[in-house]
Amino acid sequence: MANNETVMQMLAEIGKIIRNTHVVYSSGRHGSTFINKDALYVHVQTISKLCKLMAADYDADQIDVVIGPTMGGAVLAQWMAFHLNARRSAGETLPAFAEKLGEGENKRFIIKRGYDSVIPGKTVVVVDDLLTTGASSSKVIQGVRKLQGKVIGLSVICNRGSVEPQNVGGVPIHALTNVTLDSWSEEECPLCRDGVPINTNFGRGKAFFEERGVAVLSGRKRIRKEKAPTD
Ligand SMILES: [Zn+2]
Repeated sequence: MANNETVMQMLAEIGKIIRNTHVVYSSGRHGSTFINKDALYVHVQTISKLCKLMAADYDADQIDVVIGPTMGGAVLAQWMAFHLNARRSAGETLPAFAEKLGEGENKRFIIKRGYDSVIPGKTVVVVDDLLTTGASSSKVIQGVRKLQGKVIGLSVICNRGSVEPQNVGGVPIHALTNVTLDSWSEEECPLCRDGVPINTNFGRGKAFFEERGVAVLSGRKRIRKEKAPTD
């Protein structure tokens, strides 16, 4: 099992952990620290190393399919399957992906393009980069179960929301690192209350304003509290 510090150091070196900001996470919650996971995927050697560590948690011969949600999870599924296959005595572990549709609360995942046909009756590991609420992983797990796949583990690079197995359909969670980042609903957010500008370069900051009909012209935009219409 990887140690927390090594993985955090790898992320800090290449993943651009951004602190002391005001961001809207993909879950819609607000926070002050952002792990720029998209910056991770251009570093193929690091991705490979992280996936090798994640693959080490499993008996390779027992895993038929590794599936992750697009985009990041699809890359991780490929690399995890690569490392599992390197350790198999026979047979093959197949990578698959679940396509993300919609954003925020409307986000859902579908398994198609033939990946749905490799899941029925198989032993499956779900993989993703960051766990915040576990909502995305849960939806992928449900999708696999609907196709009669048996999910035996959820592997993630970082569990940043203290997500527990009961949040993801009772599936055991293997996280390379656990980080506790404060997050708040928009109503509870102390940064919104203090008028700290939302960073529109990361997370869902830009969408946050667009959904409210506010055009984002520069990288940053001061939050405007809009009153509900009264008539
Ligand atoms: Zn806020």
